[in-house]
Amino acid sequence: MSSYEAVIGLEVHAQLSTESKMFCACSTSAGSPPNTNICPVCTGQPGTLPVVNRRAIEMAIKAGLALGCKIERRSIFARKNYFYPDLPKGYQISQYEFPLCLGGGVTISTEGGKKTISLIRIHLEEDAGKLLHDYGHPDMSHVDFNRCGVPLIEIVSGPDMRSPKEAGDYLRTLRNVLVYLDVCEGNLQEGNFRCDANVSIRPVGRKEFGTRTEMKNLNSFKAVERSIAYEIERQTKVLESGGTVSQETRLWNDVAGRTESMRSKEEAHDYRYFPDPDLLPLIVEEDWIARTRSGLPELAGAKAERFVSNYEIPRADALVLTDDRALADYFEAVIASGAPARKAANWITAELMREIKDDERGIAACPIAPANLAGLIKLIEEGKISGKIGKDVFEMMFKTGRAAAEIVAELGVEQISDSSAIESAVDKIIAENPKQVEQYRGGKTAVLAYFVGQVMKATKGQANPQMLNDILKKKLET
Ligand SMILES: [Zn+2]
Repeated sequence: MSSYEAVIGLEVHAQLSTESKMFCACSTSAGSPPNTNICPVCTGQPGTLPVVNRRAIEMAIKAGLALGCKIERRSIFARKNYFYPDLPKGYQISQYEFPLCLGGGVTISTEGGKKTISLIRIHLEEDAGKLLHDYGHPDMSHVDFNRCGVPLIEIVSGPDMRSPKEAGDYLRTLRNVLVYLDVCEGNLQEGNFRCDANVSIRPVGRKEFGTRTEMKNLNSFKAVERSIAYEIERQTKVLESGGTVSQETRLWNDVAGRTESMRSKEEAHDYRYFPDPDLLPLIVEEDWIARTRSGLPELAGAKAERFVSNYEIPRADALVLTDDRALADYFEAVIASGAPARKAANWITAELMREIKDDERGIAACPIAPANLAGLIKLIEEGKISGKIGKDVFEMMFKTGRAAAEIVAELGVEQISDSSAIESAVDKIIAENPKQVEQYRGGKTAVLAYFVGQVMKATKGQANPQMLNDILKKKLET
């Protein structure tokens, strides 16, 4: 059936985490009431002049360097003209012929090994405002200009992805890099990391591209993957029934699970780009690039390698822990509080991640302080509580944010490591179960588990398991 191959390219708009806008001093804060973070510059009043935000340029250079791009010493801001109610100037300042970054790539893992998705360019631009259609008046739309002029980088990939999964992996890896660099918050739902997908199909083996459609409104990784899968199927059906795919922009409808035609796709010439006469060419000095390069933080890949070699944890755990920079920091804070690395990795990747897996905030949603998790691990290591009780204590810590020792003392669940106490419990069980004792002594050693269970029941699970085993064996075998 599938004699077609998909060709996928992604355009990502990432909001840079600056405090002020791209060309004026207004705040970029997202939570402000409508039209409070605005000024004559970002609302396009006549006679105003834009001034470039140095921090935004620096963040874009950081992103470019980390993604292996060539940083252009000279780039040009251009006007992209179009008319829309949320764009008061009637144009958006972007970069067109001469972007800040060229080339580069993002490496992902596929079933066939590593694959590098090429980047064509990264350019700087400003965001537009937002239309509000449900702001009190059902028959009116409102416009909020707060987002006008917020700095973005647009990251354009090559048409190198061949499946929805590759697109999802590319996007996750790219997001991870930007978050590590502290240049973007990377939140798809909040719109500070947005993705448009270009999808076409072609007969397997053919070099020329098919007609592509562009999909918008993809505000989760899942939406990206689902919409691409849908679009591949839709285009395949069109071609197989003898039709032609029309070049258009389509909107992903997440609830209905389908893409819907929105408008015919604009071409670059529709925007009548020209260099912005109000802005000088952007000249980036070589030593600025060098300084930025030397200040780049450790990225996920390098961090994972370091975790494997320094902490001797399994690579799979290292990859999970470094997938999120905040999680990696948490892990290292638990170790710094005295926990053995392997145990810390186990608790975080198993118990802790299960608790937070549905929470978008990630590790920020975890009420257990790193020192408290280290405290819990220590209690188990010292034999004060069993691993099983440790899990119960962990759950209470997660609910209350309290320290392990406090909860253990309050519940009275400290492990019995007093051999005489365990011995008397064992004696009692042995006396009560002569038949099972016979079986054990007759060679049916599997009955040991029965005795362990009985003693654990009698001690409410608090007997030190190692000691219990030793004492039981000794007593049953004499
Ligand atoms: Zn402003």
